[in-house]
Amino acid sequence: MIDLRSDTVTKPCSGMRAAMNNAEVGDDVYGEDPTVNRLEALAADMTGMEAGLFCSSGTQSNLLALMSHCARGDEYIVGQQAHTYKYEAGGAAVLGSIQPQPLELEPDGTLDLARVERAIKPDDFHFARTRLLCLENTQGGKVLPMAYLEKAEAFARKKGLKFHLDGARIFNAAVKLGTTTKEIATHFDSVSICLSKGLGAPVGSVLCAGRSQITEARRWRKMLGGGMRQAGILAAAGIYALENNIQRLDQDHDNAARLEQGLAGINALEIAPGSVQTNMVFVRVKRRATALAGFMEKRGIVMDKGDDLRLVTHLNVSSKDIDTVITAFKEFYK
Ligand SMILES: *Cc1c(COP(=O)(O)O)cnc(C)c1O
Repeated sequence: MIDLRSDTVTKPCSGMRAAMNNAEVGDDVYGEDPTVNRLEALAADMTGMEAGLFCSSGTQSNLLALMSHCARGDEYIVGQQAHTYKYEAGGAAVLGSIQPQPLELEPDGTLDLARVERAIKPDDFHFARTRLLCLENTQGGKVLPMAYLEKAEAFARKKGLKFHLDGARIFNAAVKLGTTTKEIATHFDSVSICLSKGLGAPVGSVLCAGRSQITEARRWRKMLGGGMRQAGILAAAGIYALENNIQRLDQDHDNAARLEQGLAGINALEIAPGSVQTNMVFVRVKRRATALAGFMEKRGIVMDKGDDLRLVTHLNVSSKDIDTVITAFKEFYK
């Protein structure tokens, strides 16, 4: 099977499973799981933050960031297509009583800062208090320019806003730019990272931030039912992922670029120029979209259905698999 739906479908390799099997554990609610502590310290170090908090998912990490930055009746500004706004079941509003102020993203995945400025509410009891600006990197597979991050940080500081990064794919961004995760993270007050995307761990995310913020987030995590006990078995997979699976992300990026090139000649398909930067290829299917997924499935290729496809490369998709996929597309449209 070649599964192009998402980089979440990756399965732990034998080395990762061995690390899990051998993990030293303790009760993490008591702070006594050495492997969880090691993962949190490693993630904090890699993002240049004071502390880390192991979370069950990226959704939980982001929610804890929002809830520890914002109080009831506060507001956060976020991209209309951002995961923290659109794909997390409205958690900020439901569980945090935090009002989202979504704004349309620019084609490069950034939020226009002049537009953000106009969305900040005046200090007036008619309005929610604007507290937080939230970005995502990569955003829809696109890497936010470093110069933009610098500007956005200065802007947030000037406006007295906290600044959170949904860094589910921060490693893809860092590898693509040839920089470190820390260089990207340093602009933010908090960063969530995902271990279970392209890094291949079965579960987990780490929220990284200042120590007092992590203390606050830890309380909310307990309230949300996220206090796990012998979680070192899972944290061991996360450590393995961070130590072994970051540099290889450039293979996923190469594979996505090769897939784009291979599909470029098919005139029933449209790929926005410059849209393939990391491990995602967005394809507009102009003809026979309904039959396509079924045809692919018969050849062992799993992908989303519909006329707007997101094809994602990851550590369980090889360069040979990409050839197979390109050949299948060509056959379908011949
Ligand atoms: C996957 C993802 C998350 C977190 O998702 P979980 O499935 O809850 O781990 C957050 N942000 C982005 C951009 C993501 O792609």
